[in-house]
Amino acid sequence: MAGKAFDLSGKVAIVTGANTGIGQGIAVALAEAGADIAIVTRSDASDTANKITALGRRAHIIIADLSSIEPCQRIVDETLDTFGRLDILVNNAGIIRRDDALDFSEEDWDAVVDTNLKVLFFLCQAAGRHMVEQKSGSIINIASMLTFQGGIRVPSYTASKSGVGGLTKLLANEWASHGVNVNAIAPGYIATNNTAALQADETRNRQIMERIPAGRWGDPEDIGGAAVFLASDAARYVQGHILAVDGGWLAR
Ligand code: NAP
Repeated sequence: MAGKAFDLSGKVAIVTGANTGIGQGIAVALAEAGADIAIVTRSDASDTANKITALGRRAHIIIADLSSIEPCQRIVDETLDTFGRLDILVNNAGIIRRDDALDFSEEDWDAVVDTNLKVLFFLCQAAGRHMVEQKSGSIINIASMLTFQGGIRVPSYTASKSGVGGLTKLLANEWASHGVNVNAIAPGYIATNNTAALQADETRNRQIMERIPAGRWGDPEDIGGAAVFLASDAARYVQGHILAVDGGWLAR
């Protein structure tokens, strides 16, 4: 029973930014659970595609720059043309820019908010139009600890990820009655390109490690199980939830 509830066989997922990091971890975990994957990427994603096909699942690479909403409808259309269906959307692609609030530039504001929040919304809209019509689907947005906390020197990132939390709840309110589940995962400190500078900073790295009850940085694979759960029938009564996968960071 439990196995079947988590089974994604026959389902099709779009995962953005799946060439590396958390997106790759999620794409491979969804494929392990049985889903075929549309990998949305602006970089070479052959490593992820190979991992998915090695599991006996299909992978299709969609090249798209998610700094503007231009590719959103095309991503959904190409997924439907390739696989004939769409069941799961994971909005993972995201960027971060660091500077003091006093010096923070408009360019660093717009770049982060556009990719992390605006494009995320319009991809939800494009997929949501299809999912609401078919009366089923799961959308998983990647939030952050800064959906709950303020952070420091990352104003546009905090604003965008706090916005992702609010949007996730709004979309759940509008679409839950149509059979579409919208939830978010808030990763803690995960070792990826995104956090390379923090990992390399000896002082910050020590401070971060000291606060994580699990006593280690997370791996992209640590996020996969939560994504499988939220994409599956096991989560059919879970709506508008922001699931922290953080080694206990928020508990401290
Ligand atoms: P990452 O390795 O830097 O991955 C970010 C992904 O987003 C990459 O695939 C990147 O593509 C893609 N991306 C960024 N801008 C794009 C654009 N304009 N068009 C297409 N793709 C774009 O970092 P990550 O840690 O795995 O981050 C994944 C998500 O998790 C992000 O939303 C991030 O905010 C969130 N997150 C991460 C952590 C953490 O500790 N690592 C914690 C909380 C939340 P390229 O490889 O081509 O740049």
